[in-house]
Amino acid sequence: EGEKEGEIDYVFKVVVVGDSAVGKTQLLGRFTKDEFFLDSKSTIGVEFQTRTLSLHRKRVKAQIWDTAGQERYRAVTSAYYRGALGAMVVYDITRRRTFENVARWVEELRAHADGSTVVALIGNKADMPAGRREVAADEAARFAEEQGLFFSEASALSGDNVDRAFLTLLEEIFAVVS
Ligand code: GDP
Repeated sequence: EGEKEGEIDYVFKVVVVGDSAVGKTQLLGRFTKDEFFLDSKSTIGVEFQTRTLSLHRKRVKAQIWDTAGQERYRAVTSAYYRGALGAMVVYDITRRRTFENVARWVEELRAHADGSTVVALIGNKADMPAGRREVAADEAARFAEEQGLFFSEASALSGDNVDRAFLTLLEEIFAVVS
């Protein structure tokens, strides 16, 4: 886009965490490129992707970090969390186990990230047929409320709610830092 660094007012680092294969990479790709990649692991090795947007007349560069598969080996390091102003904890609504592990990811975030990090809980794959659902939206919403997290279901495949979820998080970060 030919963005000059000088035109950027804020850089917001956002980390995406959650179990393997919940759709973290796809959500990030959807938000930064408006694409769903059929070859899901095409971004492996890339640490982050960015999207620059305007919020309240300021230019904000959202720098969204992907674990690039490290979560498989529980090797997400403190460097990954360092300086994160926001975080998305993602689970797959069709795999209950990934929701049960959310508490562990939230703990890990609280241990490594700053106390003021804004956290959103995302139930991904909302496009899947109702019969495949293993986590009710109500239950996740209740858990999110108890933990003080924003909550939304989304689909990286259809794009539903993806922008809205990221933008809500970025707005909230903006409110914290500005
Ligand atoms: P990650 O390991 O959490 O980064 O997960 P990926 O982004 O690699 O996605 C894991 C698998 O889930 C891939 O096969 C994706 O195509 C699929 N997937 C990701 N998001 C969605 C979604 O919103 N809906 C559906 N139906 N499949 C998805």
